[in-house]
Amino acid sequence: MLRIQNLRKRYGNTEVLKGINFEVQTGEVFGFVGQNGAGKTTTMKIMTGLLAADSGSVEFNGVDLLFNTKYMKKVIGFVPDYFGTYNNLKAIEYMEFFASMYGLHGKEARGRCMRMMDMFMIGDKAETYVDNLSRGMQQKLCMARALLHDPDLLVLDEPTSGMDPQSRLEVKNLLKELGKTGKTIIISSHILPELSEMCDTIGVIEKGEILFQGSMDEIVTAVNVSNPLTLRILDNLDTAVKMLREHPLTKSMAIDGKDIQLSFKGDANAEAELLEQMIANGIKVISFGRKRDNLETVFMRITSKEEGGRKNRV
Ligand code: ADP
Repeated sequence: MLRIQNLRKRYGNTEVLKGINFEVQTGEVFGFVGQNGAGKTTTMKIMTGLLAADSGSVEFNGVDLLFNTKYMKKVIGFVPDYFGTYNNLKAIEYMEFFASMYGLHGKEARGRCMRMMDMFMIGDKAETYVDNLSRGMQQKLCMARALLHDPDLLVLDEPTSGMDPQSRLEVKNLLKELGKTGKTIIISSHILPELSEMCDTIGVIEKGEILFQGSMDEIVTAVNVSNPLTLRILDNLDTAVKMLREHPLTKSMAIDGKDIQLSFKGDANAEAELLEQMIANGIKVISFGRKRDNLETVFMRITSKEEGGRKNRV
């Protein structure tokens, strides 16, 4: 398990990480989402030893990585958000160069490099110069490189940015598969819908603080709970209004003829119970539901100050 506790980082007078806390279970794919400048790269650089934290800890399987760099290098594979330039280096040479740093040489190294490149569907680019690869292919090469030493923890900073939709889908599926093999994976992005399909849990960061951590379902439910329930009552309107007004989870309501807009702070179970009670009380309900925002809106609401956003702070 990965456990990040109270991670702080300051640049001059600006505190860019204000005590980051989150946990990722072994074999879980964790999406680290936040707008540009939120602190994702800074967190990832600290986790991978490229930057020193002011305070806090990064524990993996009970070992504090920040004080055990040898173990850190063994267990982590890192894909940064920049690729750098590699003049006059072919893809296979790039891979073999890194393989040699992990003590792999000769046929063994070539075999492993080719297997990793094949896994990312770039085996046919082995003899292509790295600088001539598209950004998407460079990202795939970087991922293949990060897996050379079979790390248990894979950290990827915006890995799918600049990729075409087909490559993005391939990488998504691959990362999901890697998660199933027991690798713990952290992927950052500033686009929530992009992470939603491949991640088991999501952590939302804004201005150096984690605003929310949970499953995609939990996030969507928590945010949508601030949307009003919309009801249409065919019969027994007075009973319905009285019942809704007295319900402990009702915050407010607006009535327009047979239509009711109800601010109701209950989850899906509480909604189902409410509907059951209304029907049991002889109220004829002909429509009952809550608007569900799309993921982009959910993300905007979490990272904005409106109700249903910051109130979900962990
Ligand atoms: P993200 O990856 O979420 O886009 P970063 O971690 O790169 O965010 O940046 C977090 C904040 O730290 C930003 O406000 C950024 O401007 C600032 N920052 C990053 N690196 C430096 C640096 N070397 N010096 C000063 N400020 C920095």
